[in-house]
Amino acid sequence: RVKEEGKNNYKIYHGMLNKFSGQQLTFENELRHALDRNEFSLVYQPQWSVHENEVVGVEALLRWKHPKLGYISPADFIPLAEKLGLIISIGEWVLHEACRQNKEWQDAGLPPFRCSVNVSIAQLLHTQFTQTLTRVLKKTKLDPCYLELEITESIAIVKEDYILKILNNIKQMGMYIAIDDFGTGYSSLKYITQFPINRIKIDQSFIHDHTTVNQAIIKAIITMAHSMNLNVLAEGVETKEQLEFLASQGCNEIQGYYICHPLPHDQAGKLLQNFSPFTHYM
Ligand code: C2E
Ligand code: MG
Ligand code: MG
Ligand code: MG
Repeated sequence: RVKEEGKNNYKIYHGMLNKFSGQQLTFENELRHALDRNEFSLVYQPQWSVHENEVVGVEALLRWKHPKLGYISPADFIPLAEKLGLIISIGEWVLHEACRQNKEWQDAGLPPFRCSVNVSIAQLLHTQFTQTLTRVLKKTKLDPCYLELEITESIAIVKEDYILKILNNIKQMGMYIAIDDFGTGYSSLKYITQFPINRIKIDQSFIHDHTTVNQAIIKAIITMAHSMNLNVLAEGVETKEQLEFLASQGCNEIQGYYICHPLPHDQAGKLLQNFSPFTHYM
């Protein structure tokens, strides 16, 4: 079990924003300037192979350190960033920073890991998205096979043909694609057979609520994914019991507080040093 370093380093003030709702305009304005003011950073949460007992990758998660409110969860500002169109520039910063950091780790002699980056539907639909990816990979010199894009199922409802084209481009460029929060979006099973995806991330709600129905759903998702040669990762694993159940069902990987909390880059780097070379799913 990986040490729980950094557990309390990042306090996220859920609900804080409500108290400031009268200052919505100020808040918007502050979000507009957050990038210039260097208020964003990334934390990295290890992805753990159930069968190899190894860290096999990391997910980059965005943090905003607001000057007055402290750390604000992306769940509390990403929707606003999408609404204001800021997600395009913020998203590019995230991609660049995650790739830059990953290359820095590799150059420092760490075993190579794939880094997953969350991508909003608005980014995917933006006309310049593939150019942005090309630019970021060129600038950071990261091999695209070490980058995975996480998208949510809700993407499937809009501009299906266009999304399919973009995803095919991304795959041809050598990157990996995961469906995040699987089971909660507008799940059309058709999409996972049509889109060129590599991995399914089972939403944490199914993991947390250990009911018979959820167990059956988890089983079904794993069986279905494996029959399509897709890798399956379970999100939000917090207990030994959850891990054991997932292992018994053949789930490939897990992420969650039971293994490790998201860590700032320096702590993540120290942790990654101790694990084996690239043994990811291919
Ligand atoms: P997500 O991609 O599904 O990420 C998983 C969330 O669960 C993260 O919350 C993570 O810190 C949290 N988590 C990890 N392990 C556990 C656990 O064992 N128990 C519980 N209860 N939670 C756990 P976080 O970092 O607050 O991010 C929330 C969401 O914000 C993400 O969900 C993702 O959809 C979005 N997000 C984060 N970073 C970015 C980004 O750079 N770009 C975009 N577009 N969205 C982002
Ligand atoms: Mg994610
Ligand atoms: Mg998720
Ligand atoms: Mg999500």
